[in-house]
Amino acid sequence: ERAKLSKLRRLPAETTDGEPVELQANLEIPQELPLIAQAGAAGIGLLRTEFLFMNREDLPDEDAQVEAYTQIVEAMAGQSVTIRVLDWGGEKDMEALAQGVAPVHAGSNPALGLRGLRMLLKRPELLEVQFAAVLRVAAAGADGAVRLLLPMVTVPEEVRQAREIYERVARRLRRRGEKLPEKLPLLGAMIETPGAALAADAIALEADFFAIGTNDLAMYTLAVDRGEAEVAHLYDPLHPAVLRLVQFATEAALRLRMPVSVCGEMAGNPQLTPLLLGLGVRTFSMNASALPRVKQAVRALDIGDCARFARRVMEQSDPGRIRELVAGFAQGLT
Ligand code: PEP
Ligand code: MG
Repeated sequence: ERAKLSKLRRLPAETTDGEPVELQANLEIPQELPLIAQAGAAGIGLLRTEFLFMNREDLPDEDAQVEAYTQIVEAMAGQSVTIRVLDWGGEKDMEALAQGVAPVHAGSNPALGLRGLRMLLKRPELLEVQFAAVLRVAAAGADGAVRLLLPMVTVPEEVRQAREIYERVARRLRRRGEKLPEKLPLLGAMIETPGAALAADAIALEADFFAIGTNDLAMYTLAVDRGEAEVAHLYDPLHPAVLRLVQFATEAALRLRMPVSVCGEMAGNPQLTPLLLGLGVRTFSMNASALPRVKQAVRALDIGDCARFARRVMEQSDPGRIRELVAGFAQGLT
């Protein structure tokens, strides 16, 4: 089994009918880099930068961030790396982060409070430092390899404001004599709230790409805390509401030929690969450990079959029935 999976590493991620699929890795801490290389990931689809801010009393300055991102971008050797700016808030370890980021107050309901991009727009100096560091790293690396991603977007205006700051930072760096790429790295939006998903067509006018975060999308859609054991039985990414939002956001992007990926836990579940492919998703970002099995699934699938299967699933309104269909299709696979 191990040998089989390691052989898989060198095989392309493409369906039986030759459709190429991009399988990328999520990175939470740099220590995961060897595992990501081992898994044969086609880049990093979600670099969570929270690790840089944790367990410290000060903030990482521009040079420290440049160093951290450079290490990762260089290890990926020209492959795409999508760097998400700080997603402070929600279920993330607030205690550890707050030391450096204080005095921002998350409020009585942190998941609905000053989280992600909302917080960064209140403290634009944090965003400026992070943008500057990423721009410098992008300038040193392969063209177009580095991309920037904004967490917890709910309103198109937030993306517009972030882009204004981004362009201002770029102008300042150029004045400072930094050589930046002519075309700035793409600036994408996480689609991880129902509001963002249902307004995906409006957000698409401001963002260069989408990364659908199904972890938060399921949490906010179903009003179920990701980390709360008492309601864990209600946390179900196969709830039709979650699937419809994924479908809506994906279609909004595809209509505009805008890149779209899924980077929540759903992306790493090989049972869900046929459904996501059938909904039009071609880029998946997941924990590196999940990648070989998802690749195995991709290589056994036909896009036409997936599209037909997704249509059947999307006609269903009962999560239990959807689960049965998904399990049944997966069984037919092996
Ligand atoms: C998500 O919400 O699905 C996601 C990928 O982001 P995170 O898990 O870091 O919140
Ligand atoms: Mg999220």
